[in-house]
Amino acid sequence: MSTSFHPDEKGFYGPYGGAYIPEMLIPNIENLKKKYLKILNSDSFRKNFKTLLEDYAGRPTPLYYATRLSEHYGSNIWLKREDLAHTGSHKINNTIGQILLAQEMGKKRIIAETGAGQHGVATATVCALMGLKCVVYMGETDIERQAPNVARMKMLGAEVKTAISGSRTLKDATNEALRDWIANPLNTYYLIGSVVGPHPYPDLVARLQSVISGEMQWQLRNKTGKAEPDYVVACVGGGSNAAGSFYHYLDTPEVKLIGAEASGQGLTTGKTAASIALGETGIIHGSMTYLMQNDDGQITEPYSISAGLDYPGIGPLHAWLNQTGRAKYLSVTDQEALDAALRLTRKEGIIPALESAHALAALDQLELKPEENVIVTISGRGDKDMKTYMEKLKLR
Ligand SMILES: *Cc1c(COP(=O)(O)O)cnc(C)c1O
Repeated sequence: MSTSFHPDEKGFYGPYGGAYIPEMLIPNIENLKKKYLKILNSDSFRKNFKTLLEDYAGRPTPLYYATRLSEHYGSNIWLKREDLAHTGSHKINNTIGQILLAQEMGKKRIIAETGAGQHGVATATVCALMGLKCVVYMGETDIERQAPNVARMKMLGAEVKTAISGSRTLKDATNEALRDWIANPLNTYYLIGSVVGPHPYPDLVARLQSVISGEMQWQLRNKTGKAEPDYVVACVGGGSNAAGSFYHYLDTPEVKLIGAEASGQGLTTGKTAASIALGETGIIHGSMTYLMQNDDGQITEPYSISAGLDYPGIGPLHAWLNQTGRAKYLSVTDQEALDAALRLTRKEGIIPALESAHALAALDQLELKPEENVIVTISGRGDKDMKTYMEKLKLR
C-alpha cells in the first residue's frame, strides 16, 4: 500500500475515503470530481480566492509568539490566529473557496448542513456576498440549542430548514441535504463544511484550508529562520482546520503532527466524541473512515462540550494519518479543555473557541523541550461559547 497522504484517483487514502453514495448522486459527484482540480488550479480562481481571503476574510492571520504561555510550558508556543478571520473561525476559508467553485460551475443555489451553526453562518455569509440563494439544513434539537447562529443565518438571508428525523442533529441534517441535492442536481451546489463526505470533498476542503499551513511556513521562517516547527497541534472535529494546518508539512516527517479530539466526559463514559480512540471502520456520509457505532452498526450520538467537535466520524485523511502513524491523535476531556481555555485567556488575553481549547489542552500531554517550536492552531474565537463559559467557569 502506498503511503501517499493525497488521495488516489478514486479518493482513497489507503483503505479510507472513496465515494459510497446512492446511485442518484453519482452524476453530481462525477461532475464535481471532473471539474474541481481544473478550477482550483486556474489563474482566475487563484486570483479571486487570494483577493477575497486577503481583503474580505482578513488573511494572512497572524502567527503569534505566546510569551507567557511559552514560559508556562518551557517551550516556544506559537498561535496561528484563525480566531481573527472574518466570522470568527477558519470555516470562512473553505466557504469562500467553494462559493467561487460553485459560481464557476454555474450553480445558482447553495445548500449546506450544519450542527452548531458555525458552518451554516460561514455559508450564509458567502452566499450574501455573492447574491446566491442559500438553504441550510439543521436538526431541530440543534436549532433550539444554537438560537444565535440561527438568527445570524436568517439575518444573512439564508433559509434554515428543520431536520426532524432521527435524533434531529447533524447527521439527520446531512441526510436531508443529500436528499435535496438528489432532487435538485442541476442548479444546486452542496457546500460541505469539513474534510468529510464522498470524494472529492475531503481533498477539496483540505486544499482550500491548506492556506493555513502555507502561511505558517513563511511566517515561521520570517520569525525564526526556519519554516518547520517541531510540532503542529490542532483540534479535530471532522478535521478541516487540522488538515489545513498539517497540509504543507505532511511530507516533512520531522514535523510532528498532533490532533486533539474530544473525549467529552471521558472515553469510557459513553458521553464522548473520540472517533479515533474508540472508532471502528465503517461508512459515514459517503466515505470509509473511523466512526462511532453500537454493536448493531448504528452510528452513535456523539457528545462534547464543544458543539463543533461532536461529530461521530472523522475525515478519511485523518484515519489514514492515524493508521500510518504520520499524525498522533490525543483525547481531551471537557474539563481539560475548559482549564486550557481559562489558561490562555488569563495568560494571553485571548478567549478561544471551546474547540480550539482542546488543541491547547493537548500541550499538557506532550513532553516539550526549551528549544522546540510548537504551533497551535486557534481555530476560532470564544464569543459563541460564552454561555458555556459563564456556566462552567461560574462567571455569573
Ligand atoms: C467547526 C469548528 C471546528 C471543527 O471542525 P474541523 O473541520 O475539525 O476543523 C473547530 N473549531 C472551530 C472554531 C469550529 O467552528
